[in-house]
Amino acid sequence: MAKPRDLHTVAAANGVASDKPFRAVTPPIYLSSTFAFEGYEAGGPYEYTRTANPTRDMLAGTIAKLEGGAGAVIVCSGMAAVDVVLAQAGAGARVIAPHDCYGGTYRLLEARHRLGQIEVTFVDFGDGAVLADALSRAPKLVLIETPSNPLMRVVDIKAVAAQAKAVGAKVAVDNTFLSPALQRPIALGADFVIHSTTKFLNGHSDVVGGAVIAAAEADVEAMAEWVNIVGVTGAPFDSYLTLRGVRTLFARVERQQANAMAVARFLDSHPRVRAVHYPGLPSHPDHAVAQGQQAGAGAMLSFELAGGPAEVRAFVEGVEVFTLAESLGGVESLIAHPATMTHARMGIEARRIAGIGDSLLRLSVGLEAEADLIAGLEAGFAALPGAR
Ligand SMILES: *Cc1c(COP(=O)(O)O)cnc(C)c1O
Repeated sequence: MAKPRDLHTVAAANGVASDKPFRAVTPPIYLSSTFAFEGYEAGGPYEYTRTANPTRDMLAGTIAKLEGGAGAVIVCSGMAAVDVVLAQAGAGARVIAPHDCYGGTYRLLEARHRLGQIEVTFVDFGDGAVLADALSRAPKLVLIETPSNPLMRVVDIKAVAAQAKAVGAKVAVDNTFLSPALQRPIALGADFVIHSTTKFLNGHSDVVGGAVIAAAEADVEAMAEWVNIVGVTGAPFDSYLTLRGVRTLFARVERQQANAMAVARFLDSHPRVRAVHYPGLPSHPDHAVAQGQQAGAGAMLSFELAGGPAEVRAFVEGVEVFTLAESLGGVESLIAHPATMTHARMGIEARRIAGIGDSLLRLSVGLEAEADLIAGLEAGFAALPGAR
């Protein structure tokens, strides 16, 4: 048995130089939709790409190793990944989800509930009594998103996983915001890890994709069967690009979070900022939990601008270097206004309960020079009404 490699090595080199026919160093891409049978009643390891594809399998194997799971399925979006996990919970299952989850996840849970397919309880994971009450109602699945989007609240995965196990529920963690470079939920007790590979894993804002990693082999097999049945497996070309992105995951994330820390400190000391939500700041309410379960604070943060809609508009129109766009985790820095963008469809009341204010801005910090990132934000502050 080969010695298990450090995760940096797995990301950079899993599957490298494994090509038999031509000894290609970079694993080749197999775009073919179908594979020839060797003969009558003699199919090979691959028959049809919806079911299985070598390029997609290489990405799945690499991500599964990075997350420490038994295996993974690669699907066509992060939303498909969340939906695959919901399907595993079974008909009518009760699902516990964070009230401040990703807007698309919120919409999916509500839609599946409206169709009568699941029961869903949205809870504030920071409220122990509310969580305990939800857990007492025989949930099949507990969905954790940590750090949460966009408020960067941190959930103690180990503690919640233990509570969920005690009532027979499975635990899924959406690890999109940190990636396995900074957080490995299976080691903390999760049964499933969900990724929008669109974000940090691909990292170059040119693929929409998803992945689910399972701790147990039986769950991997059940998911592989399901994604073939419903036909949501990822495309080979997207898998190829995503694996190319994964090669530099650690280098990107380590650099991007150093930039994010600098940005968080700058915002934290700015008079026109009411609050900064970044788990790397000692003032963050979940700083200690984050330090316990994360290898770093990540490259996502949000902050509340002092003022109302006029200030938000002036800031996003004046800001430089950060592009006004949804999504996150790419090499380029982005700014988003959750109330009118990512979380608009959640509705004003649900946003209020979740604490997502109208002056909240979310940043995905990229690989640009720190000085340029700060200068870009300064341009936004300079554009505020009343600024000199
Ligand atoms: C983007 C995102 C999703 C959805 O992923 P898509 O690839 O856009 O479908 C799910 N969860 C989180 C935390 C996300 O950021």
